Amino acid sequence: MNIAIAGSGALGCGFGYMLQKNGQNVTLLDYWEDHIEAIRNNGLTVSVNGVKGTLPMTIARPEEVSGEKDVIFVFTKAMGLEKMMTQINHLIGTKTKIVCLLNGLGHLKTLEAFVDRRNIIMGTTVWTAGIIAPGEIQLNGNGPVELQNSHPEEEEAARVIVNILKDSGLFGEYSKNVKYTTWRKACINGTMNALCALLDASIDQLFKSPSIDSLLNGIVDEFAAVAKAQDDIEIDRDEMIHYLKEVASRLGSHYPSMHQDLFNRRPTEIDYLNGAVVEAAEKYGIEAPHCRRMTDLIHAKEAVLGIE
Ligand code: NAD
Repeated sequence: MNIAIAGSGALGCGFGYMLQKNGQNVTLLDYWEDHIEAIRNNGLTVSVNGVKGTLPMTIARPEEVSGEKDVIFVFTKAMGLEKMMTQINHLIGTKTKIVCLLNGLGHLKTLEAFVDRRNIIMGTTVWTAGIIAPGEIQLNGNGPVELQNSHPEEEEAARVIVNILKDSGLFGEYSKNVKYTTWRKACINGTMNALCALLDASIDQLFKSPSIDSLLNGIVDEFAAVAKAQDDIEIDRDEMIHYLKEVASRLGSHYPSMHQDLFNRRPTEIDYLNGAVVEAAEKYGIEAPHCRRMTDLIHAKEAVLGIE
């Protein structure tokens, strides 16, 4: 298959590498000059669960590429999605499937401004990836990547992509309720990630805090109320907190991505997590004081650090 990765940072390169290694024809798309140059000169080096490999890979700015792609995985940060969609418009044909695994809420609406819902496959992943240096990435975990068609008649198309991910060692799974999975992931990011970023704490430090239960209860209740009002998704608070604690116990001394964003002086995705909950809560007349305060504090922290 002719696959493009629109936004080839940590996760985009990790996926691109695995797909190309397993026989797909992958083009990486990006604008980061040093990264493009490094991959063009030395190939893409990816360490997958500690096993390092290097592959020659095609990387280009979107405007340097032509021809409609079969599948495009979007892997920008949430705030870069809309712009990237305008930049890859010429690569999208009537049959091109767009696969979105971004963290956060509201991406289906953004994509629908550019692509028919029939061609949008939404999903989540618990793979983790990081950039070691331009052209060098680490990818960790064992999936899954859960995907579902956004249009009820496109299940077969979603299953084809799930199988490609399975064959590439990325542990694709067909989801019967990707909206729930998306909310569950947003809950993790909106609690664990945002609190670790605010407190400059690792996950195990955060979960040792005496006020952790009160903080989690407050935030999860707001996510649950908005998930119900907006998407008719039921989130059971106790079940979610149990899940959060179980994920936290596995991640231990890890610093989540929002903490790393601040550390690297890069904007966070808070507006697509707690900020999105606040925006929707207003629409449905729901109080969301925890999410509002966290969004304000993260933006204050970005400003203190000089991040624009
Ligand atoms: P990323 O920051 O690594 O890459 C996103 C974009 O930023 C890419 O275009 C990349 O080239 C560019 N970029 C990165 N570092 C740069 C630098 N120093 N200078 C210039 N440009 C730079 O993002 P990601 O971690 O791959 O995440 C993509 C999406 O996937 C996000 O929505 C994220 O929340 C989600 N996600 C990430 C992970 C993870 O572990 N990385 C896991 C699950 C979901």
